[in-house]
Amino acid sequence: MNHKPRMNPIESKLAQVQARIDAAARACGRDPAEVHLLAVSKTRPAADIAAAHAAGQHAFGENYLQEALTKIEALRHLDIAWHYIGRIQSNKTRPIAEHFAWVHGLASLKHAQRLSEQRPAGLAPLNVCLQINLSGETSKEGISEADAPALAQAVAGLPALRLRSLMTLPAPSDDPVAQRAVFARLAALKTALNAQGLALDTLSMGMSGDLEAAVCAGATVVRIGTAVFGARN
Ligand SMILES: *Cc1c(COP(=O)(O)O)cnc(C)c1O
Repeated sequence: MNHKPRMNPIESKLAQVQARIDAAARACGRDPAEVHLLAVSKTRPAADIAAAHAAGQHAFGENYLQEALTKIEALRHLDIAWHYIGRIQSNKTRPIAEHFAWVHGLASLKHAQRLSEQRPAGLAPLNVCLQINLSGETSKEGISEADAPALAQAVAGLPALRLRSLMTLPAPSDDPVAQRAVFARLAALKTALNAQGLALDTLSMGMSGDLEAAVCAGATVVRIGTAVFGARN
């Protein structure tokens, strides 16, 4: 008899998340192919990442630099695009510039300049997203909407960076209307910046609990941890 191998748990969760993305996109008249899933693997072992990779997932997001570097080294035989989504520390920009394809939480010109200077010459420009703090929470990284145009113009001029998008990490909310309103502000800011001559082509927003609202508001990258890998300790 010819049995189809059973899906591993991560493979079936990935399929469920993809189905949520597809349904949300269709419900809002978007093409699901415009929305990319970034699997957030912080705190998960390399074996979980390898299982997700075997199921077809290629982009992974990590928050903690040392942990990420260990996993990047362990999985260097796999074709993976690593996204740094954690807090950036000034004295740790070099390993980020050397080992990642994307950085989502850029919020200062100083960090941007260091990343550009430290990006190895043989690598493609580092894709970056500016983190926008829409809720004004002082505990979170990110610049205000008002400060975004000046930083975006400056970052766009750095030779080894490619300014791709805006990212936000809103205060958690269970209310889909409130979730949508925050994400719509990020989408509007992207439109406004592009009207000023920038060429942002992506929007990094939406997590396990609010991906539907983010997709409806125009997300092109959703950063999903719990719904792919299970609850973190
Ligand atoms: C942890 C994290 C995520 C994923 O959150 P989940 O709720 O587990 O999907 C997304 N983005 C950032 C910046 C994170 O730190």
